[in-house]
Amino acid sequence: KQLRSQDILLSLQLVPYGDREKLLISRDITRFEKIEIMRRDFIANVSHELRTPLTVIGGFLETLLDENRISGKMEKNALELMAHQATRMQRLVEDLLTLSRLENTQNTLCEESVDVVKLLRGLHQEARSLSAGRHVITLNILSDAMVLGSEDELRSAFGNLVSNAVRYTPEGGKISLNWTLEKGKGLFYVQDTGIGIESEYIPRLTERFYRVDRSRSRETGGTGLGLAIVKHVLNRHQASLEIASELGVGSTFRIKFPASRVLPVAPGAAVLST
Ligand code: ADP
Repeated sequence: KQLRSQDILLSLQLVPYGDREKLLISRDITRFEKIEIMRRDFIANVSHELRTPLTVIGGFLETLLDENRISGKMEKNALELMAHQATRMQRLVEDLLTLSRLENTQNTLCEESVDVVKLLRGLHQEARSLSAGRHVITLNILSDAMVLGSEDELRSAFGNLVSNAVRYTPEGGKISLNWTLEKGKGLFYVQDTGIGIESEYIPRLTERFYRVDRSRSRETGGTGLGLAIVKHVLNRHQASLEIASELGVGSTFRIKFPASRVLPVAPGAAVLST
């Protein structure tokens, strides 16, 4: 039997105890229930995300197989749409694999000296090509300190914040990528003049598949897993994520590394702004 009282779920079990007596065993299963609900939600979300592109591809294939129903021009169009849906599924599976790798606690963190400046220069170029001239994107390097951790994971975390800024900022907006030190702590932040987020949604943004606007996220190629990946990577680096945003004004996503993970390179920081 199960007994629910407010937020607590108890499992009750009566077992024989001696000849005549019985023992009542009560277990608090609140946490197990929560995990079970999360697991079920996760499977439902993944299935839903995969079903939509598969339905589109299936529909087009049927039309293509029926030669009477399709012209040469329509055929090209159908193939393009199918390729788009296949890319969407590919991206989702890639993100799922990244998450599962990060969640596998056996997978220990690679401790290398990560050249943040070099990494950010690369991301700055990628952001520019993703934006294709629609935004003004600047890179402000106020420190040449390095971070102790995994270069691949940090590239994926920083890259997610940068690509989100591009995807959620309308044409003509400004985006900046910044790296600095603050009381010995390493601070990377991305600032945009994008659509912004209402404060009530902010605490849920790092949940898997949580999106403020589903259709906008999909349209711009989002999987809904980006910030969940960022959170995992940061946990593994004992770093924190702070989000400040105002609807219609813009957002700032800040990653802070503890001083123990920061490796100052040389006295007198390099200052660069491009
Ligand atoms: P998605 O693939 O949907 O972008 P993320 O996990 O990266 O998934 O982000 C979760 C949600 O947070 C997004 O769907 C979007 O609603 C919101 N979001 C993230 N970054 C920004 C940003 N820079 N500006 C506005 N909204 C953002």
